[in-house]
Amino acid sequence: MKFETKIKVAAGAIILVMFTVAILPLLVKRQVAVAITELSNASNIERLELNLLDLLLDAETAQRGFVLTGDERFLAPYHTAVNRIPVVQHALRKEMPGPAETTRLEAIERATAAKMLTVARAIELRRGQGLAPAAAFIAGGTGKAQMDALRTLIDSEIERYAARRADLGERLQSVSNSAANASLVATLTNILVLAGVLTAATRVLRQRDLAEHRANQAAQETQSTNERISRQNTLLFRSADLMHSLELSESSDEAAVVVASYLPQLLPGLSGSLYLYNNSRDLLERKASWGGAAGEPELIEAGDCWALRRGSPHLVTRQSGGLACRHAGAGGEDRLCLPLVTQGDVIGCLSATGAGLSEGKDDQRAWIGQLAEQLGLALSNVRLRVSLRQQSVIDPLTQLYNRRYMDEVLRRELARSDRNGEPLSLLVLDLDHFKRINDSYGHEGGDAVLRKVAQVLRDNVRSCDVACRMGGEEMVVLLPNCGIDDALKRADALRRAIAAGDILHDGRRLHATASIGVAAYPLHARSMQALVHAADLALYQAKHQGRDRVVRAADEADAGATAVPHGS
Ligand code: GH3
Ligand code: MG
Ligand code: MG
Repeated sequence: MKFETKIKVAAGAIILVMFTVAILPLLVKRQVAVAITELSNASNIERLELNLLDLLLDAETAQRGFVLTGDERFLAPYHTAVNRIPVVQHALRKEMPGPAETTRLEAIERATAAKMLTVARAIELRRGQGLAPAAAFIAGGTGKAQMDALRTLIDSEIERYAARRADLGERLQSVSNSAANASLVATLTNILVLAGVLTAATRVLRQRDLAEHRANQAAQETQSTNERISRQNTLLFRSADLMHSLELSESSDEAAVVVASYLPQLLPGLSGSLYLYNNSRDLLERKASWGGAAGEPELIEAGDCWALRRGSPHLVTRQSGGLACRHAGAGGEDRLCLPLVTQGDVIGCLSATGAGLSEGKDDQRAWIGQLAEQLGLALSNVRLRVSLRQQSVIDPLTQLYNRRYMDEVLRRELARSDRNGEPLSLLVLDLDHFKRINDSYGHEGGDAVLRKVAQVLRDNVRSCDVACRMGGEEMVVLLPNCGIDDALKRADALRRAIAAGDILHDGRRLHATASIGVAAYPLHARSMQALVHAADLALYQAKHQGRDRVVRAADEADAGATAVPHGS
């Protein structure tokens, strides 16, 4: 049964008991009233019958006094009795409770009438015939017998009504006892029902408290789960964003900067470093750090890190101990190192420190593991992409950029030059009589010369300059933010460096010279093709004028070229 139903049943019981308790006095009152009426009736009858007996005795005494004395004054009680007896009898009749009592009263009335007749007869005899006949009549005993019978009748009636009174008294007593008992039982029942309801209510309230407590706990758990899921979602979104940014990274260094900017958000509360193998794979370079791990070593060996040695994550905590890596400082902080693995190849390691790694932080450690996996894959993709791109833009023989890259850069730099209003110069360089070198020293000798000249170019240009091999033994150097005068000087410096350097091949000394045409934007041309053409024309002039020289392109109006004197 449900609690509400139980409460309703209990309330119904209480109302019923209280109704009984309320109605009980009314019932008792009615019974008591009936008993009291009957009691007063019985005592009235008793009183009237005693009255009647007194009147009869008075009448008899008056008759005797009159018979003895003949004095009429003695008859006063007799006359009173004659008048009063009908009144008393009438009153008695009214009090009669039932036909049986009325029948018995009628017997008394008849006996009373007979007695009164006897008394009247004696009085008449005394008056008419004197004392003797009257005395003889009395002595005859009729009157006495009648009086005795009447006394017996009335006594027995009085006894009967006395017994009835006693009976009514007992009934009253028992009604009052029953009422008291019923009231007691009702009150006790009420108390018991109320106590039951109270106990049940207390239990239910306790159960409700418990249920409320459990509901609160469940709500709190749900809230913390939601918060955790929301945090995880945020982290997942950020890591997806990181991976996307890594996909767009154009070099490993740029990728490292991207990783360093994302890791503080992805691993909050932790600090650490990202190490990647260098090209020769003998050392790992620190490419990124976050969260105050700036003091960690810049270079480590694979043997310094247990995660790299084992090829699996390595955790060291204050609580459970573990072998500390050699690259870890003396701080003794909790540290988790994870190898960055892609397709079975270890490309580096992620080393994180901080309190978030301690026991019971499985979620955090699992998340770092997941992140390390994604980072390994993404960084290796960056490397692959960078290497593919290099392969597509680098000339394999000279390691200079190829023509495709040159076109791309030249277009970009011209646009920039336009934007900034800065000049840009182009050197077109061709080795002199290269066919002869090939003929004299073989193709490999020619290749060695090409490599050497490329090296000279690399060594003599600024980091913002771009040196390319356009094909064969022709090379181009792009000089951003460089006017024609500076460009001529630097072209000549290059020419001299090439001419000065001897190349050892197969134990023989090879010597090479170069002719260089120089054009500047926007001085000599207003488009990419025109600029290259102007520089080409200048180169042609240099060849024509005897080679091993630098020639400045003719201004647009001249459409010719001007040789730069040797040694200028
Ligand atoms: P000049 O430019 O001074 O007029 O004379 P040249 O002998 O250098 O003239 P040309 O441009 O006709 O010759 C270029 C030669 O370069 C022809 C070709 O065999 C050679 N060559 C082109 N590419 C390579 C290469 O990759 N390696 C080697 N060894 N030789 C190459
Ligand atoms: Mg040549
Ligand atoms: Mg050539």
